[in-house]
Amino acid sequence: MDKRVGLIDMLAAELAELEAQGLKRRRRTLEMPSRAHMMLDGHPVISFCNNDYLGLAGHTDLIHASRDAAVEAGVGAGSAHLVAGHHRLHAQLEKELADFVGMQDALLFSTGYMANIGAVTALVGRGDAVFGDKLNHASLVDACLLSRAELTRYPHGDLDFLEAKLKVSTARRKLVATDAVFSMDGDIAPLPELLALCERYDAWLLVDDAHGFGVLGEHGRGVLEHFATRHSPLATRLIYMATLGKAAGVFGAFVAGHPTLIEWLVNKARTYVYTTATPPMLAAAVSTSLKLIAADDWRRIRLKELIAQLREGMAGQPWTLMESNTPIQPLVVGDNATALRLAEALRERGVMVPAIRPPTVPQGTARLRISLSAAHAAADVERLLATLRDLAG
Ligand SMILES: *Cc1c(COP(=O)(O)O)cnc(C)c1O
Repeated sequence: MDKRVGLIDMLAAELAELEAQGLKRRRRTLEMPSRAHMMLDGHPVISFCNNDYLGLAGHTDLIHASRDAAVEAGVGAGSAHLVAGHHRLHAQLEKELADFVGMQDALLFSTGYMANIGAVTALVGRGDAVFGDKLNHASLVDACLLSRAELTRYPHGDLDFLEAKLKVSTARRKLVATDAVFSMDGDIAPLPELLALCERYDAWLLVDDAHGFGVLGEHGRGVLEHFATRHSPLATRLIYMATLGKAAGVFGAFVAGHPTLIEWLVNKARTYVYTTATPPMLAAAVSTSLKLIAADDWRRIRLKELIAQLREGMAGQPWTLMESNTPIQPLVVGDNATALRLAEALRERGVMVPAIRPPTVPQGTARLRISLSAAHAAADVERLLATLRDLAG
């Protein structure tokens, strides 16, 4: 008799194990756009799950821009950028993005995941060294691993540790990679200090501004505006990356930097070369989104007010918010089961907040990740606060 455990049985056993640990993931199917206010199973809910920080994802201007562009340019790009998929709308958007963030040139990628993989693996390889913050997004971690460069993961924000490692590294090329706003904690990386370290030890600095673009800085130009490092003389070693599916409300990502760097990526970033260009209609939607990000200061002002309201309202509750001034406001709960139970209890009361568990965050730090958006009203945050108070009592 065949004593082998079947391949499917092995997977099923491991899935059951995940289930037992409160780590099994499930998808919820929506019948409508994912927005701050939506209907779920026939009931109205307020969602704090979304990365649509400015409330632009459903904006009529974006809808019209993509519809008009679809009529003009079709839906599918048809081929990769280097073959025949590079449309005028892509080229125009790249210029606008570079201008917007204050870098010389920019290159569009299909997703942030692909931008990180493409940029890191094009710049470092075997015999080189990469350094990444321990709390970096999974796509940056994967990018560093895939590059085959020697990887050092430094404790979150520990620049002394990083400097000691940079100092002794004899690698010909070095690259430091960091989230600008840490996606599960909401804190901001010390960009000027990181840039200075990279200058001292002649390393590239890749900054992933997925959660800062559109949100940080007076005009929403992102982490470079926040720290006033735009147009910095040190910026030749800076590789700026941001995604377009969060505050920009569309889809995709870009890398911005020195024109020679961008030309190198056009030639060498495998996730750019070997993939179909994104639909040009999405580029048109992002162009429109950039105009709204720049024009609608009220969205960032509203966000700041909501953040302050939430933080004041949480004072004195049993669970504490992590230190964060960004729309990412994590409420650390501890164990997986409690986080899940709390998220479920909130959902039953019409408030959606995702429970984030390991391996996305370290063991024992399961949390509710509250995402605020300009699409929320003060009454929505009050409702969240009241429901949490209720559950705590
Ligand atoms: C969301 C995110 C990404 C991935 O971007 P996608 O466009 O969704 O692939 C990369 N880095 C960070 C920090 C993110 O939060």
